[in-house]
This record gives sequence, structure tokens and C-alpha cells, in this order.
Amino acid sequence: MLDVELVKKEIRPTAVRLRVLEQFQSDPAAVSLNELEERLQPVDRTTLFRTLKMFEKKGVVHAVHDENGIIKYALCADSCRCSYSDHLHVHFSCKRCKKTTCLHDVQIPEVMLPQGYVPQDANVVIKGVCNLCSGL
Ligand SMILES: [Zn+2]
Ligand SMILES: [Zn+2]
Ligand SMILES: [Zn+2]
Repeated sequence: MLDVELVKKEIRPTAVRLRVLEQFQSDPAAVSLNELEERLQPVDRTTLFRTLKMFEKKGVVHAVHDENGIIKYALCADSCRCSYSDHLHVHFSCKRCKKTTCLHDVQIPEVMLPQGYVPQDANVVIKGVCNLCSGL
């Protein structure tokens, strides 16, 4: 029912968009444009880039900056309305499997900003060893 999910977000379900969504749902780890390009060959990079940007705008995915400053994309939670507070969750970057995952249930504490500063995006990435790699 991938096409239904896209239509719900007012996205016309093309073959490429469906494949991209499928990729996001099959693997919870955040993916970069390069990784997506590798996995979805031979779909061209520009198309994938546009798809990611559109998914981001429509609230299907959100951007995550991993430890190296590379932008990756991760699926939004079902209830996500892509507001600032919806995206205030921690991301975890594993040094062993190199995966960056959303910890949707771990909230970033609201930070008090000086008068006149309007927050729009926050990015907390915790580095370490993930639960699958630690075996704990
Ligand atoms: Zn979102
Ligand atoms: Zn790991
Ligand atoms: Zn996330």
C-alpha cells in the first residue's frame, strides 16, 4: 500500500518514488543520496535528489546530518507533522555498522534561546555503538 501512503501526502506515486519509499521502509537507517543511488541503480541521481527534496517538503522524510556532516534522510514517524517539535528526537550514529538511526522516542530537551531567536531545526547526533552491534 505504498502508493496510498504517497497519495495521502499529496504525492503522485511514480515508479521511482515508490521505489524510494520502499527503500526507506525496508531499512530504518538513514541514507545519503549516494547510498540511495547505489541501491537503486540505474535511476539517475538528479531524479533521486528531486525525490528526496520533495519527500522532505511533503513530510515523508527528514534530513539528518551525520557525524561527517553528510546529509542523510530518514523516514518520519507516522504521526509526524514535520514541525520543529516533531523532529526533536535524537539520532544515533554507530561507529561499527556506520548506520545512523532515528530514536523517535528519545526527545531532545527544549533549549531556552535568547529573545528573538526562532528555532526551526535541531540536530543531535549521538555517536557510539548501536544495540545490534553492542549485543547488550
Ligand atoms: Zn517529519
Ligand atoms: Zn551498529
Ligand atoms: Zn530522525
